[in-house]
Amino acid sequence: MWVPGAEGRQALAVAMAAAATLAVAMAARRWRRRPVREVLFFPSPPSCTEALLAEAAGTGAPAQPCPCPLPSSDCPLSRLLRRLLSARRSLDICLFAFSCPQLGLAVRLLHRRGVRVRVVTDAQYMGLRGSQIGLLRQAGIQVRHDQGQGYMHHKFAIVDRRMLITGSLNWTTQAIQSNRENVLVVEDAEYAKLYLDEFERIWEEYNPTNYKFVSQGQ
Ligand SMILES: [Zn+2]
Repeated sequence: MWVPGAEGRQALAVAMAAAATLAVAMAARRWRRRPVREVLFFPSPPSCTEALLAEAAGTGAPAQPCPCPLPSSDCPLSRLLRRLLSARRSLDICLFAFSCPQLGLAVRLLHRRGVRVRVVTDAQYMGLRGSQIGLLRQAGIQVRHDQGQGYMHHKFAIVDRRMLITGSLNWTTQAIQSNRENVLVVEDAEYAKLYLDEFERIWEEYNPTNYKFVSQGQ
Protein backbone atom coordinates (compact mmCIF):
# COMPACT_ATOMS: atom_id res chain seq x y z
CA MET A 1 0.00 0.00 0.00
CA TRP A 2 1.20 3.48 -0.92
CA VAL A 3 1.51 5.79 2.07
CA PRO A 4 1.98 9.46 1.12
CA GLY A 5 4.69 11.43 2.82
CA ALA A 6 4.08 14.77 4.51
CA GLU A 7 4.26 16.63 1.18
CA GLY A 8 1.93 14.16 -0.46
CA ARG A 9 -0.60 14.49 2.36
CA GLN A 10 -0.52 18.27 2.05
CA ALA A 11 -1.02 18.13 -1.72
CA LEU A 12 -3.91 15.71 -1.21
CA ALA A 13 -5.54 18.02 1.37
CA VAL A 14 -5.19 21.03 -0.98
CA ALA A 15 -6.71 19.06 -3.86
CA MET A 16 -9.61 17.90 -1.70
CA ALA A 17 -10.28 21.43 -0.45
CA ALA A 18 -10.27 22.72 -4.05
CA ALA A 19 -12.69 19.99 -5.11
CA ALA A 20 -15.02 20.83 -2.21
CA THR A 21 -14.96 24.56 -3.08
CA LEU A 22 -15.78 23.75 -6.71
CA ALA A 23 -18.68 21.52 -5.67
CA VAL A 24 -20.12 24.27 -3.44
CA ALA A 25 -19.78 26.85 -6.25
CA MET A 26 -21.55 24.54 -8.72
CA ALA A 27 -24.35 23.85 -6.25
CA ALA A 28 -24.74 27.59 -5.62
CA ARG A 29 -25.00 28.20 -9.36
CA ARG A 30 -27.72 25.57 -9.65
CA TRP A 31 -29.46 27.08 -6.62
CA ARG A 32 -29.51 30.56 -8.15
CA ARG A 33 -32.62 30.01 -10.24
CA ARG A 34 -32.61 31.54 -13.68
CA PRO A 35 -35.35 34.15 -14.17
CA VAL A 36 -38.47 32.81 -15.86
CA ARG A 37 -38.65 33.35 -19.60
CA GLU A 38 -41.51 31.48 -21.17
CA VAL A 39 -43.93 31.84 -24.06
CA LEU A 40 -47.22 29.98 -24.10
CA PHE A 41 -49.08 29.46 -27.34
CA PHE A 42 -52.77 28.68 -27.41
CA PRO A 43 -55.12 26.95 -28.15
CA SER A 44 -54.43 24.58 -25.28
CA PRO A 45 -55.51 20.96 -25.83
CA PRO A 46 -58.43 19.93 -23.61
CA SER A 47 -56.92 18.73 -20.34
CA CYS A 48 -57.86 18.09 -16.73
CA THR A 49 -56.50 20.57 -14.19
CA GLU A 50 -58.32 19.06 -11.18
CA ALA A 51 -55.19 17.52 -9.64
CA LEU A 52 -53.19 20.73 -10.08
CA LEU A 53 -55.89 22.87 -8.47
CA ALA A 54 -56.53 20.34 -5.66
CA GLU A 55 -52.82 20.36 -4.87
CA ALA A 56 -52.87 24.17 -4.81
CA ALA A 57 -55.91 24.14 -2.53
CA GLY A 58 -53.83 22.10 -0.10
CA THR A 59 -56.88 20.44 1.43
CA GLY A 60 -54.74 17.61 2.67
CA ALA A 61 -57.33 15.12 1.43
CA PRO A 62 -56.05 12.23 -0.65
CA ALA A 63 -56.12 13.26 -4.29
CA GLN A 64 -59.19 11.66 -5.75
CA PRO A 65 -58.58 10.77 -9.36
CA CYS A 66 -60.86 12.99 -11.44
CA PRO A 67 -63.51 10.90 -13.22
CA CYS A 68 -63.32 12.97 -16.39
CA PRO A 69 -61.67 11.33 -19.41
CA LEU A 70 -59.27 14.20 -20.12
CA PRO A 71 -55.53 13.73 -19.69
CA SER A 72 -53.92 15.83 -16.96
CA SER A 73 -50.85 16.42 -19.09
CA ASP A 74 -48.66 19.48 -19.25
CA CYS A 75 -50.28 22.10 -21.51
CA PRO A 76 -50.30 25.88 -21.95
CA LEU A 77 -53.27 26.24 -19.55
CA SER A 78 -51.61 24.16 -16.82
CA ARG A 79 -48.41 26.17 -17.25
CA LEU A 80 -50.30 29.44 -16.95
CA LEU A 81 -52.05 28.10 -13.82
CA ARG A 82 -48.73 27.10 -12.26
CA ARG A 83 -47.23 30.54 -12.88
CA LEU A 84 -50.22 32.21 -11.24
CA LEU A 85 -50.27 29.77 -8.34
CA SER A 86 -46.62 30.58 -7.64
CA ALA A 87 -47.83 33.93 -6.20
CA ARG A 88 -46.95 34.38 -2.54
CA ARG A 89 -47.73 38.02 -1.83
CA SER A 90 -49.66 39.75 -4.62
CA LEU A 91 -51.45 39.22 -7.89
CA ASP A 92 -52.58 42.17 -9.99
CA ILE A 93 -54.76 41.31 -12.96
CA CYS A 94 -55.95 43.51 -15.82
CA LEU A 95 -58.29 41.59 -18.12
CA PHE A 96 -60.84 42.50 -20.76
CA ALA A 97 -62.74 39.21 -20.32
CA PHE A 98 -62.48 36.59 -17.59
CA SER A 99 -64.72 33.53 -17.79
CA CYS A 100 -62.38 30.52 -17.50
CA PRO A 101 -63.52 28.61 -14.38
CA GLN A 102 -60.11 27.00 -13.73
CA LEU A 103 -58.33 30.36 -13.77
CA GLY A 104 -61.14 31.84 -11.66
CA LEU A 105 -60.69 29.08 -9.09
CA ALA A 106 -56.92 29.58 -9.06
CA VAL A 107 -57.36 33.29 -8.35
CA ARG A 108 -59.83 32.56 -5.52
CA LEU A 109 -57.41 29.99 -4.06
CA LEU A 110 -54.67 32.62 -3.99
CA HIS A 111 -57.00 35.09 -2.27
CA ARG A 112 -57.88 32.43 0.32
CA ARG A 113 -54.17 31.78 0.80
CA GLY A 114 -53.69 35.43 1.78
CA VAL A 115 -52.26 36.72 -1.49
CA ARG A 116 -53.42 40.28 -2.14
CA VAL A 117 -55.43 40.02 -5.35
CA ARG A 118 -56.64 43.03 -7.33
CA VAL A 119 -58.60 42.75 -10.57
CA VAL A 120 -59.29 45.39 -13.21
CA THR A 121 -61.76 44.49 -15.92
CA ASP A 122 -64.08 45.81 -18.59
CA ALA A 123 -67.51 47.05 -17.51
CA GLN A 124 -69.32 45.72 -20.56
CA TYR A 125 -67.78 42.23 -20.44
CA MET A 126 -67.83 41.55 -16.73
CA GLY A 127 -71.58 40.91 -16.73
CA LEU A 128 -71.62 38.39 -19.57
CA ARG A 129 -72.77 34.85 -18.93
CA GLY A 130 -70.00 32.69 -17.45
CA SER A 131 -68.00 35.71 -16.27
CA GLN A 132 -65.90 34.92 -13.21
CA ILE A 133 -66.03 38.50 -11.93
CA GLY A 134 -69.13 37.98 -9.77
CA LEU A 135 -67.57 34.92 -8.12
CA LEU A 136 -64.36 36.84 -7.45
CA ARG A 137 -66.31 39.66 -5.82
CA GLN A 138 -68.36 37.20 -3.75
CA ALA A 139 -65.09 35.72 -2.53
CA GLY A 140 -64.10 39.18 -1.28
CA ILE A 141 -61.63 40.02 -4.03
CA GLN A 142 -61.35 43.68 -5.01
CA VAL A 143 -62.49 44.29 -8.57
CA ARG A 144 -62.60 47.61 -10.35
CA HIS A 145 -63.85 48.40 -13.85
CA ASP A 146 -63.89 51.17 -16.40
CA GLN A 147 -66.76 53.58 -16.87
CA GLY A 148 -67.52 52.91 -20.49
CA GLN A 149 -65.03 55.13 -22.30
CA GLY A 150 -63.71 52.56 -24.78
CA TYR A 151 -62.81 49.04 -23.77
CA MET A 152 -60.50 48.13 -20.90
CA HIS A 153 -58.77 45.87 -23.38
CA HIS A 154 -55.57 44.90 -21.51
CA LYS A 155 -54.68 41.28 -20.83
CA PHE A 156 -51.90 41.18 -18.31
CA ALA A 157 -51.10 40.02 -14.80
CA ILE A 158 -48.23 40.71 -12.41
CA VAL A 159 -47.23 38.08 -9.86
CA ASP A 160 -45.50 39.23 -6.67
CA ARG A 161 -44.53 42.51 -8.38
CA ARG A 162 -41.79 40.63 -10.26
CA MET A 163 -43.26 38.32 -12.90
CA LEU A 164 -45.16 39.74 -15.85
CA ILE A 165 -47.71 37.67 -17.76
CA THR A 166 -48.96 39.41 -20.89
CA GLY A 167 -50.17 38.72 -24.40
CA SER A 168 -53.27 38.39 -26.53
CA LEU A 169 -55.12 35.92 -24.31
CA ASN A 170 -58.35 36.77 -22.55
CA TRP A 171 -58.96 34.30 -19.74
CA THR A 172 -61.96 32.72 -21.41
CA THR A 173 -62.51 29.04 -22.13
CA GLN A 174 -63.32 29.94 -25.74
CA ALA A 175 -59.96 31.69 -26.22
CA ILE A 176 -57.99 29.04 -24.32
CA GLN A 177 -59.47 26.08 -26.22
CA SER A 178 -60.09 27.57 -29.65
CA ASN A 179 -58.04 30.67 -30.42
CA ARG A 180 -54.51 31.18 -31.56
CA GLU A 181 -53.10 33.32 -28.77
CA ASN A 182 -49.73 34.08 -27.24
CA VAL A 183 -48.72 34.74 -23.65
CA LEU A 184 -45.31 35.93 -22.58
CA VAL A 185 -44.20 35.09 -19.04
CA VAL A 186 -41.14 37.01 -17.94
CA GLU A 187 -39.47 37.59 -14.60
CA ASP A 188 -38.04 41.03 -15.17
CA ALA A 189 -38.03 43.83 -12.60
CA GLU A 190 -38.08 46.64 -15.19
CA TYR A 191 -40.97 45.32 -17.24
CA ALA A 192 -42.90 44.29 -14.14
CA LYS A 193 -42.55 47.83 -12.75
CA LEU A 194 -43.70 49.49 -15.98
CA TYR A 195 -46.84 47.35 -16.04
CA LEU A 196 -47.37 47.77 -12.32
CA ASP A 197 -47.17 51.56 -12.64
CA GLU A 198 -49.84 51.43 -15.35
CA PHE A 199 -51.92 49.07 -13.20
CA GLU A 200 -51.75 51.53 -10.27
CA ARG A 201 -52.79 54.41 -12.58
CA ILE A 202 -55.81 52.46 -13.84
CA TRP A 203 -56.64 51.18 -10.34
CA GLU A 204 -56.81 54.76 -9.05
CA GLU A 205 -58.72 56.03 -12.09
CA TYR A 206 -61.33 53.28 -11.58
CA ASN A 207 -61.62 53.96 -7.86
CA PRO A 208 -65.39 54.19 -7.22
CA THR A 209 -64.85 57.37 -5.20
CA ASN A 210 -63.71 59.01 -8.44
CA TYR A 211 -66.83 58.04 -10.42
CA LYS A 212 -68.51 60.95 -12.14
CA PHE A 213 -72.23 60.43 -12.14
CA VAL A 214 -74.16 62.37 -14.71
CA SER A 215 -77.67 63.11 -13.49
CA GLN A 216 -80.56 63.10 -15.92
CA GLY A 217 -82.10 66.37 -17.10
CA GLN A 218 -79.12 68.62 -16.52
ZN1 LIG B 1 -60.81 15.95 -14.78
